Amino acid sequence: MRAVRNIRLCTKDCLCLYVCPTGATNTENGQIDWDKCLDACRACVDACPSGAICKVPHNYPPQQPKTDAVISAMNRLSRSKGKQRQAARAMQAQGNSPIARQLGQALEMSVIVTAEDLAREAGYMLPQSSEARAFLEKLLDEEQGAEFPADAARELLNRL
Ligand code: SF4
Ligand code: SF4
Repeated sequence: MRAVRNIRLCTKDCLCLYVCPTGATNTENGQIDWDKCLDACRACVDACPSGAICKVPHNYPPQQPKTDAVISAMNRLSRSKGKQRQAARAMQAQGNSPIARQLGQALEMSVIVTAEDLAREAGYMLPQSSEARAFLEKLLDEEQGAEFPADAARELLNRL
């Protein structure tokens, strides 16, 4: 088992930096260094006041196979979530009241979480997994519209 930090939950109070016996939690990119993380240790998990760290297995069990039709439907849904996210961002930028802008923000988060679930269920996006790499490489290999953030996808590939 090795530790992973959920950046969205991390409040950066740094307790994990003090308790880690190997320095694995102290990295520049915010991710825990798996080469230094000890299998039997969970000091950072217990110390983190935000529940931002958990231990995950080295290898995940294989996913239950899904038919091509199901995967294709999930991919289509994921793409529609991209459009919904754009609409939610427009609400944040153009909302005529703080409530409307907050609603746009909440909608965007909800869309992101759902899109991640869909992508994971379609066989991609296990954190830092080979599936996530394969997904990004596939997107970059395929012809995409002008709005596709190719530079961001390449950058993500470099960081995984
Ligand atoms: S202890 Fe938790 S909240 Fe604090 S820096 Fe570490 S991961 Fe973030
Ligand atoms: S599980 Fe232990 S070794 Fe691994 S990052 Fe956390 S404190 Fe460091």
